[in-house]
Amino acid sequence: MLRKVLIANRGEIACRIIRTCHRLGVATVAVYSDADRDALHVSLAGEAVHIGPSPAAESYLQGETIIDAALRTGADAIHPGYGFLSENPDFADAVTSAGIRFIGPSSDAIRAMGLKDAAKALMEKAGVPVVPGYHGAEQDPDFLLDEAERIGFPVLIKARAGGGGKGMRRVESAADFREALASAQREASAAFGDAACLIEKYITHPRHIEIQVFGDDHGNVVHLFERDCSLQRRHQKVIEEAPAPGMPEEMRLAMGEAAVKAAMAISYSGAGTIEFIADASDGLKADRFWFMEMNTRLQVEHPVTEAITGVDLVEWQLRVASGEPLPRSQDELFISGWAFEARLYAEDAERGFLPATGRLAHLDLPEELARVDSGVRTGDRISPFYDPMIAKIITRGPDRQTALSLLSSALAEVRATGVTTNASFLRRLTIQPDFVEGRPETGLIDRHLAELTIGQAPARETMALAALKLSGALEPKTVSDPWGRLSGFRLWSEASDFVELDYRGQHVPISFGSTGEGAYAAIVDGRQVDFGLSRLGEDTYLLEVDGRKRRFHLVPGHRDLTIFGDGENWHFGLIDPLAGEDEIAAGSDHIVAPMPGLVKLLRATPGAAVAKGEALVVMEAMKMELTLAAPRDGTIAEVLVSQGEQVIEGAVLLILEPEFGEPESGEPQDG
Ligand code: ADP
Repeated sequence: MLRKVLIANRGEIACRIIRTCHRLGVATVAVYSDADRDALHVSLAGEAVHIGPSPAAESYLQGETIIDAALRTGADAIHPGYGFLSENPDFADAVTSAGIRFIGPSSDAIRAMGLKDAAKALMEKAGVPVVPGYHGAEQDPDFLLDEAERIGFPVLIKARAGGGGKGMRRVESAADFREALASAQREASAAFGDAACLIEKYITHPRHIEIQVFGDDHGNVVHLFERDCSLQRRHQKVIEEAPAPGMPEEMRLAMGEAAVKAAMAISYSGAGTIEFIADASDGLKADRFWFMEMNTRLQVEHPVTEAITGVDLVEWQLRVASGEPLPRSQDELFISGWAFEARLYAEDAERGFLPATGRLAHLDLPEELARVDSGVRTGDRISPFYDPMIAKIITRGPDRQTALSLLSSALAEVRATGVTTNASFLRRLTIQPDFVEGRPETGLIDRHLAELTIGQAPARETMALAALKLSGALEPKTVSDPWGRLSGFRLWSEASDFVELDYRGQHVPISFGSTGEGAYAAIVDGRQVDFGLSRLGEDTYLLEVDGRKRRFHLVPGHRDLTIFGDGENWHFGLIDPLAGEDEIAAGSDHIVAPMPGLVKLLRATPGAAVAKGEALVVMEAMKMELTLAAPRDGTIAEVLVSQGEQVIEGAVLLILEPEFGEPESGEPQDG
């Protein structure tokens, strides 16, 4: 067995690898950037080495610095995790040349699968079905357009070096092709330093089904069945499950065989995933799946496979890397039960899934109901430097329905404040009827976006509860407590109190008072509500309205409060009556950076006329492209940034000429 492993990664995956190492008695070394000085993975590891400034390019992507850290600490192997250097064959070579084990496949295998075009050619040769399309070297836009016509629209443009859905564009018709290609190439070039793209037939009822494979250095390859990752948004996985619902046994066998064949073709050693796309327009069929790509590393969603096979995939990686044969043969592997994984992100689903940053003032994850793989804890910052994942919530049950209900309950118990999360969005997904009935599809989220992203408004009693809490009326009373006047029987008129709350920028006036033991009345925005309230525990309350009781959990901040209940959460601030009027917020004349990032493309000059919806600025933020469009028709008054400039959140980028009111005199309007 290996003695000491350096983990060239951060966040949840670094923590997850460290845990298995420790269980097996393997010592660990973490690496960290400036931003991660106090990160969880640093505190879990046996030792840790600082490797540079916060941007990944200057730390987690610095192969030489990392190898140096391994040599200095006497590590005999490096585990790359996923992302960062995990699929970089030059890094794998450099590690090996330094006399250290690279926990992963050979650099040749990584190279063979590294570019989607070459991988597809290789798989075609090995007799594995591949998606129809063009994956040659020619990159002339006219030529690619001809190819797209030949394949037939809709097509999918993919960066050949792609990953994480970057550099990918679905194109409906020839008219849109050139612009989509240019934008895919730009994104690919920024993300991978390689602009080349391939064109594929767009499968219209696609299911993403992938097979976990494992090889060793003795020529053995097994597969550990499938994962269904069809629930996606913008080609990124959102909730994964294993096994795949509705999978015929015949197809499972065919996919497993194809995956093993693919891995054998490149003498694969270690953990890998063969991603297939299946056409589910007529249910899953054994002859309707095609190879998309191979990921030559551990996947984010590997825990669902662990949950249904009982295998610790990181343990297998460590054993294979130390030269042992695979711990189990194909006929010793079985599917038992069902598992789901939801990716909890710092992002605002209601605002177009904008990545969120900030300090997690409070973080409570449902560890009693689920396996929780996380790399952060209360007080940690979600920085703009890395992927904003907070945790993976993994549930397992004897059957799909049980595992899914458990996931739903677990997500309802996620309590995070300080940073907006997608927990409510994920929870709504777990009760989406098509998904519940086992019909996930890559287009499902987009089709139901509105109902999945728009949260329930808080009920009057919920706002009243916020008012009670924020005014201090729920605090234990002492005789000298000025709030003690709310205790006991009082007449409504005598005991009423008043606060003004801020809910999403709106002022809500609330007066409230006690009407009996544990009974209250409130007037919220002019309408009355009567309710009962009992305390279940520290900041957990049972709220009763019209004979219906619901449980709410309160997480107070500083003059603000988040209420969690019904799988939703609402944030309220207390308005200080002595404070002046809020500053007038930037109106629709201003185009503002929604988050810190880089101005990549600027299509605006002062004096130019713009139409509503016209793309004016392309920003790169949090590793993705963000297009900012004109909020209305108008004329550009000022351009305050230049291309290539780094801007902070809230920076005003462009200003439009103010809009004039409707002319009263019927005078003709010009411009
Ligand atoms: P990446 O490496 O960037 O993650 P993939 O090739 O793995 O890209 O594809 C990501 C997702 O895009 C797939 O899971 C699937 O939902 C969708 N996709 C890929 N190829 C096709 C296709 N030919 N037709 C329809 N959807 C596709």
